[in-house]
Amino acid sequence: MALIVHKYGGTSMGSPERIKNVAKRVAKWARAGHQMVVVPSAMSGETNRLLALAKELAPAKETQSYMRELDMLASTGEQASSALLAIALQSEGMDSVSYAGWQVPIRTDSAFTKARIESIEDDRVRADLNAGRVVIITGFQGVDESRNITTLGRGGSDTSAVAVAAALKADECLIYTDVDGVYTTDPRVVPEARRLKTVSFEEMLEMASLGSKVLQIRSVEFAGKYKVPLRVLSSFTPWDINIQEEAKSGTLITFEEDTQMEQAVVSGIAFNRDEAKISIIGVPDKPGIAYQILGAVAEGNIEVDMIIQNIGKDGHTDFSFTVHRNDYARAMDLLKVKVLPTLGSTEAIGDTKICKVSIVGIGMRSHVGIASKMFRTLSEEGINIQMISTSEIKTSVVIDEKYMELAVRSLHKAFDLEQVQA
Ligand code: ADP
Ligand code: ASP
Ligand code: MG
Repeated sequence: MALIVHKYGGTSMGSPERIKNVAKRVAKWARAGHQMVVVPSAMSGETNRLLALAKELAPAKETQSYMRELDMLASTGEQASSALLAIALQSEGMDSVSYAGWQVPIRTDSAFTKARIESIEDDRVRADLNAGRVVIITGFQGVDESRNITTLGRGGSDTSAVAVAAALKADECLIYTDVDGVYTTDPRVVPEARRLKTVSFEEMLEMASLGSKVLQIRSVEFAGKYKVPLRVLSSFTPWDINIQEEAKSGTLITFEEDTQMEQAVVSGIAFNRDEAKISIIGVPDKPGIAYQILGAVAEGNIEVDMIIQNIGKDGHTDFSFTVHRNDYARAMDLLKVKVLPTLGSTEAIGDTKICKVSIVGIGMRSHVGIASKMFRTLSEEGINIQMISTSEIKTSVVIDEKYMELAVRSLHKAFDLEQVQA
């Protein structure tokens, strides 16, 4: 008997028929003798629908009190799907109970819309499991110390599931989704993308942080910190497939240093359309300028990703960096009010039509020339590189958004990541 956490994404919970399927699958696992905890997302489209309603009433407000209400609102999606799943399980003849985040409780900080989990109490859930119940815990939400409902950022149910698995010391956390594993890149963009049987934790962390939305980055961080065995697999297989076969399907996130199964130098390609570039032109080329600019941005609680400073000419230089697109307008305002006046005659130019494309692979540590192969491939397609950043296991470039698909496809091909034809 094992303690298993299943997580089902929005598409997997997308209709009563699909919820019924999830219930049958979970019941199969419970009947095989496992203690089962299930973390569902809201039904697909529901979180967007709710947030769009709020926007209709008050576009783009960012006050604490507004963000608090967004979390009150968005969290209802998961509450509904959890109750529906418990009902479906009950009609499968299973004893089942659902809990909202605050009922567990899943404690978080108070950063509404992007809260971080601080602790999870396990007494109530354990008592239910010991009584033979299937426990459903809402994804995506928690409660802060003032008993406000919080949410964990878009895609946050992955993080709920892994955190619950860590708190319960579960034997495995299975993330069921609408693809049958982690691919070399998003199979919606490159149909030739290949499923990875295993992916190292470090690679998964990079891919998630660089834009592969298949797992929310914080869920991967949790898995790494607490060594939660984690697998991504399809919820669209027939619910009654052989359980041993199912348990080995999809993609396993591995923690071994040396994964023998997939020895490619580059394991995957990630892309991200969520950033915007800001360039400050004609900045005085003297000590303290980066701090003056980025310090002000940090004080505004805006995260900066890539940074580039050109060589100075005539005592001046240009300074560019990228921020999340949601923070772009605020960053521009902040620069215009707080930074530009103190720098003299400078101007800030923004570009929201960019994207970041990254190649990821632990094999890059031991191979040279990988980044230059990436640059050559892009140049052969006539794609201009605006910014570059590298780490031991990834190289990222910022390019014009309109070339994103071309860039991803040509890199996928250049690094031989296509489907191996039978
Ligand atoms: P869920 O609702 O189950 O959480 P998501 O939409 O959040 O599902 O994540 C699954 C989607 O992630 C897939 O449909 C796929 O388009 C996308 N995706 C992006 N990159 C990858 C990748 N490298 N491998 C697999 N899927 C990916
Ligand atoms: N329902 C939330 C969202 O759409 C959380 C999740 O699906 O993981 O972002
Ligand atoms: Mg998701």
